[in-house]
Amino acid sequence: MLGFIKKITLTNKQNLISRRFPDVNIVLHPDLSSPSLNKMVKLAKIVNTVNSFEAKISALSDTELRRKTEELRDHILKKSKVYESEIQELEEALLSVAIPEEKEKIKEKLKITRNKIFEEVLPQGFAAVREAARRTVNMRHFDVQIAGGIVLHEGRISEMATGEGKTLVATLPAYLNALLGRGVHIVTVNDYLARRDREWMGPIYEFLGLTVGVIQHEISDEQRKQAYGCDITYGTNNEFGFDYLRDNMKYSLEDLMQRPFYYAIVDEVDSILIDEARTPLIISGPAEESTDKYYIIDKIIPRLKGRIILERDEIDAKYKGEDLSKGFDYIVDEKAHTAHLTEEGEPKVCAILNIDNLHDIETMEWRHHIIQALRAHNLYKRDVDYVVKEGQVIIVDEFTGRMMPGRRWSDGLHQAVEAKEGLKIERENQTLATITFQNYFRMYEKLAGMTGTALTEANEFKSIYQLDVVTIPTNRTLIRTNYSDSVHKTEKEKFNAVVTEIAELYNLGRPVLVGTITIDKSERLSDMLKRRGVPHQVLNAKYHEMEAQIVAQAGRYKGVTIATNMAGRGTDILLGGNPEYMAKNLAKQKLKPDDPNYQEEYKKLLEQYRKETDAEHKKVVELGGLHVLGTERHEARRIDNQLRGRSGRQGDPGSSRFYVSLGDDLMRLFGSDRLIGIMDKLGLEEGQVIEHPWVTKSIEIAQRRVEQYNFEIRKQLLEYDNVMNKQREVIYGQRRSVLEGASLKEEILDIIDKIIGDILAMYINDNVSSEEWDITGLVSALKLKFNIEIDSFKIQKLNKSQIHEELRKGIIGAYEEKERSIGADMMRHLERMVFLQIIDIKWKDHLYAMDNLREGIGLRAYGQRDPLVEYKREAFEMFSQMITGIEEEAVETIFRLQAAKPERFRGVFSSVSQEFLHPEVTRPERPQENIVTEEMPQVSQKPIKSSPQISSPKIGRNDPCPCGAKDPATGNPIKYKKCHGR
Ligand code: ADP
Ligand code: MG
Repeated sequence: MLGFIKKITLTNKQNLISRRFPDVNIVLHPDLSSPSLNKMVKLAKIVNTVNSFEAKISALSDTELRRKTEELRDHILKKSKVYESEIQELEEALLSVAIPEEKEKIKEKLKITRNKIFEEVLPQGFAAVREAARRTVNMRHFDVQIAGGIVLHEGRISEMATGEGKTLVATLPAYLNALLGRGVHIVTVNDYLARRDREWMGPIYEFLGLTVGVIQHEISDEQRKQAYGCDITYGTNNEFGFDYLRDNMKYSLEDLMQRPFYYAIVDEVDSILIDEARTPLIISGPAEESTDKYYIIDKIIPRLKGRIILERDEIDAKYKGEDLSKGFDYIVDEKAHTAHLTEEGEPKVCAILNIDNLHDIETMEWRHHIIQALRAHNLYKRDVDYVVKEGQVIIVDEFTGRMMPGRRWSDGLHQAVEAKEGLKIERENQTLATITFQNYFRMYEKLAGMTGTALTEANEFKSIYQLDVVTIPTNRTLIRTNYSDSVHKTEKEKFNAVVTEIAELYNLGRPVLVGTITIDKSERLSDMLKRRGVPHQVLNAKYHEMEAQIVAQAGRYKGVTIATNMAGRGTDILLGGNPEYMAKNLAKQKLKPDDPNYQEEYKKLLEQYRKETDAEHKKVVELGGLHVLGTERHEARRIDNQLRGRSGRQGDPGSSRFYVSLGDDLMRLFGSDRLIGIMDKLGLEEGQVIEHPWVTKSIEIAQRRVEQYNFEIRKQLLEYDNVMNKQREVIYGQRRSVLEGASLKEEILDIIDKIIGDILAMYINDNVSSEEWDITGLVSALKLKFNIEIDSFKIQKLNKSQIHEELRKGIIGAYEEKERSIGADMMRHLERMVFLQIIDIKWKDHLYAMDNLREGIGLRAYGQRDPLVEYKREAFEMFSQMITGIEEEAVETIFRLQAAKPERFRGVFSSVSQEFLHPEVTRPERPQENIVTEEMPQVSQKPIKSSPQISSPKIGRNDPCPCGAKDPATGNPIKYKKCHGR
């Protein structure tokens, strides 16, 4: 029934398009989703307008065409002023509503309003790009490509099959949006593709007067900054993400690489936003530069003479006019939970440590650790405040008495307690900065994506990224045959059947692309083929460029290529071989690319190779084109579709088939009873094969279950990350405003007031008579925090609000005095540096604590509690404490600091070695055996750095190159050492 309705809709829409826009070449097909069908008429209309500009624009001279850029830019800038206030209102509304549905509505409206700026000039802009592409790279955007470009411009996902030319599609919205002057990022999955696309598409933008840059892993900071300054920047998701994190560790504005995020077009969007989104980007470094200091300081403590004071002592002392600190090196105040060195203690410590003082920006750290060690020794008791278990200090919750594994005291206190207990302080790695791709890409004002396979995950794109998926029909009708799965009882039989099919096709000469799920299986298959004497190539997604070269030739006569899913992606497989790759290779061997004769040579070679590949193309087409053979169903239909999509591009013939055995993970773990039932009914015996659409259907049902399960895992990861994300936003936001030179004076004055309030509340009890106020405590607290002396006799006679006034006057006076003596500019600068430094120290500490919390949260016995809720609660608590800590410590430091030379400030992160982690996802997720019982997401798993490895059969230097290149002059194969082995 549903199929019937859809058929009618399809016919209606097709008729509508053909009648109203007879010249537009968009052919609908039944695989399109209903929303996509509806959308296509609207798209056809815009395509028609784009086409209508073609005659006029193609008549322009090169200079006139370039001038179009200015004209369109002026228009866009004017329009952006027109909509400015409307957009601002929507942005404010977005901040003020809390209901998710309302938020979504506003977001959608915002998207539409922002795009109105471009509405009038879009057709002309696209027409200009099409013309520029024709003149520079010799490709004219097909009508469906224009349609895909519109979808990208709207901030949605264009689902376009492999080989439809998505690289070219991206040029349309990239150009148009770059005119706004805020930068456009085009995101690809690896450095090789970023470079290739920049080189390939660059001429189009440059012809139109825009600048293009590309980020590569190994380029210098300067080159990076320059690339980010371009109108259009190509780069990988990892580089963009890491640069963002690194920018947020910088100490001056000039060092920032990126501009505020505007528009990103993500190629292979499903790989990046779904597969790779499972592991966050992490910059990690040693948690401690050295742990020695804790032990050194710990040894000092017993040599000092301390006094624990109680309220009673203080009152006593006051009556007797005694100085409590006399004769002691340090004082511990149990009530305030603090400790400090006395005037006698300080020089003693300096002498032991062999340093001059404890209040220099470089020696301040020692003071800090000494105080923590004093607290560890005097205020934290074993088996009361903590227990020692298996060499670790585990905190005991003071209210509930429960052990809290994973929780750590911050600010070095935990380490101080470890030192006190004589435990080993692990010098471990910690997170210095981290973000998930979900949260990274959500920062762009406008996000768009393209891929051959998005529809199966449309739900996830919508709910996590607010991205709609629109399927664009292919330029030519797809004629690939997808055969039903071939199902076997055991894996061994399956592989035997696979090898037989490959050998048969090889004998016919028909090219085969074999997809495997892991590198191991690729190798196993490769061994089997070797024994059968079938020549083949093995790829496993490690050396992108070389693999691209090999995959590019996978459509040649008698070609057999085994590849894991990621290998050589982004590279088009032309039947009969790719003459451009071949010509470029040989040309590069003969001449340097900047040689004046290079182009000439390239063209000559291309001509020659083309003759060869054209003939081969014909032969391969007659044989039925590329056959894709999947050796296992993947855990997501999407990945299967990616593999299938490699054949049948641009109307080529082709076919695909998956081989399945009941021993495959997918079948073992997710195959339903129903499936097993069907098998039994059909009577699958050892050695038998089943091919039936029913079975294929059942397998797809199993896949859907895995997809759902994996989606849940990603959602959970995101929920955990969202907690951190909010905190990161706050901290990075603060950092940024400090970097941008905001004056902190107001803030500091506020903090001073807050601290005064806290001190008064602690030492001046409203409920007792003024004689009993702890003025001594008050005075020493002021000395400690603000480094000022207040006359205790003078304030003894005052009431509370007078005291408040007096303190304020004293403290602010000291502050102003300092400012006068070093100058206001210097003071502001110092304040900024102190804040940045302390924000970073505390944030780093906090991240460490968060790492631990996340790992420990699952270990706690929570009974019915939801670990996520617990996690949120504790994270929030820790965060508020950190913020207060930042404020207090920054202000205290400012009062203590001598005017330092500016260059003495070095970033907190600049001294630690950093590692950039994001494992390459070489295959989609594996289901865990314990799926049902698993409660925690796999979030705490530390990503492992994968080192590049390749397991293709050893190629001798004098062997023919695996890419199959032949010297067109002699017809002999080119040696590996002269081709890809160079
Ligand atoms: P996709 O990324 O969609 O798989 P690519 O961008 O790699 O596809 O392009 C596939 C092939 O199609 C390339 O060889 C490219 O040159 C070719 N191509 C794309 N668009 C056009 C066009 N409008 N005219 C001619 N060839 C095109
Ligand atoms: Mg591509």
